Amino acid sequence: MKIYNTLSKRKEEFEPLEEGKVKMYVCGPTVYNLIHIGNARPMIVFDTVRRYMEHKGYEVNFVSNFTDVDDKIIKKAIEEEVDASVISERYIAECKKDMQAMNVKPATTHPKATEEICGMLDMIGTLIEKGHAYVAQDGTVYYRTRSFKGYGKLSHKNIDDLQGGNRSLLVTGEDQKEDSLDFVLWKPKKDGEPYWESPWCNGRPGWHIECSVMSRKYLGEEIDIHAGGEDLIFPHHENEIAQSEAANGKPFAKYWMHNAFLNIDNRKMSKSAGNFFTVRDISEKYDLQVLRFFMLSAHYRSPLNFSAELMEAAQNGYERIVTSVTNLNYLLENAASDTMSEDEEKLAQEAKGYIALFDKAMDDDFNTADAIAAIFELVKFANTNTKQPCSRQFLQSLKEEIVMLSDICGLIVEKKQEMLDSDIEALINERQAARKEKNFKRADEIRNELLDKGIILEDTREGVKWKRA
Ligand code: AMP
Ligand code: ZN
Repeated sequence: MKIYNTLSKRKEEFEPLEEGKVKMYVCGPTVYNLIHIGNARPMIVFDTVRRYMEHKGYEVNFVSNFTDVDDKIIKKAIEEEVDASVISERYIAECKKDMQAMNVKPATTHPKATEEICGMLDMIGTLIEKGHAYVAQDGTVYYRTRSFKGYGKLSHKNIDDLQGGNRSLLVTGEDQKEDSLDFVLWKPKKDGEPYWESPWCNGRPGWHIECSVMSRKYLGEEIDIHAGGEDLIFPHHENEIAQSEAANGKPFAKYWMHNAFLNIDNRKMSKSAGNFFTVRDISEKYDLQVLRFFMLSAHYRSPLNFSAELMEAAQNGYERIVTSVTNLNYLLENAASDTMSEDEEKLAQEAKGYIALFDKAMDDDFNTADAIAAIFELVKFANTNTKQPCSRQFLQSLKEEIVMLSDICGLIVEKKQEMLDSDIEALINERQAARKEKNFKRADEIRNELLDKGIILEDTREGVKWKRA
């Protein structure tokens, strides 16, 4: 399996630090609003990376944070006259709903910055001790950027060029810095802001330190993969490397993965220009599986343009797979025989070729565009080779393969058929009749059959009531 590593600017063979295990950290959203479809791109892309790794047999420890202390959260809390935690908790809950609707698996751990302050104080303390950080007059703690030899290695920037570019910046407190390149690890509180006590001043952490701390706490000092959108390469990830490697004295992440941006109508998504959509906006018009399909139809390192035409194309593509599975299910109910014929065995073998094609695409730096093309090939193969009567075993194997490959992409392609109210009521009547005849075995069978289909029965004094789970 090859992964493009931003650090080396080339594709490298993936070799985990520990056999059979993957330690992966993905920078999560700042929670002050509903997530937009740009935020959804890294969620979907890296969830697919995780699913593929799991499919390959790796045990993946997947950590993704919520940044729940930040200027934008505080601004909104002041506007609404509530505590900052009311805002962040609200949008964490909304974000989790969107993730579920996009079939993004919950992380192994979703740490929140405000719950990790202790670890941040500890790491900042170490950095000061080691001479990589210093306390300014007002209690702000800065990272001494030039003290870290490898600064710029991820973004491939020369530290002296950075210095030149930054000199004209007029940032508050700039005069207290030893060097304009130094960045904040801890800053003093302002009126009305949430704050924590520290040896330097009552205040709150800078943004970069949280990821270094949470990554170390939940995954260890050295991890396999660190990921996020490409806007995070500089300065966020560059600063994370400087903090973690200086504090721990070890390399931080082995592979750095970055997704390219999602644009709208070929322009950068921007709230002020009005060209941005939340995931919730999209869910009003489309099944979010279509959004997922759309995101995976391009390679994650290619910029992707969001447009109505491309979403229509994604809808058609997604439905092509769903229809094929629905069709196979229908054929399965009317299968001509049980076991495969010799001819079918040959065809089943041929079908395996498409799985190999899928794996080849995914092994090449998660080329989901080609992987989806392989699913389409398999769908076409299934559609053309099931026109004549087929055995159940053959149909089942084709269906399982399409569902398995789609599932690696996080695409739900097998729609569970909802039972009609009239069918449910007919079964309930049959159960009542069975109970009257003291045929409790049959009555239990019916209850369980309904439960399997998500129908819950309740025996009440007024009779049997039912609801959908
Ligand atoms: P933020 O809440 O801005 O920190 O963003 C959370 C994640 O979404 C980060 O990994 C960003 O790089 C990513 N992201 C934000 N906007 C876009 C976009 N338009 N396209 C792709 N990724 C984005
Ligand atoms: Zn981060």
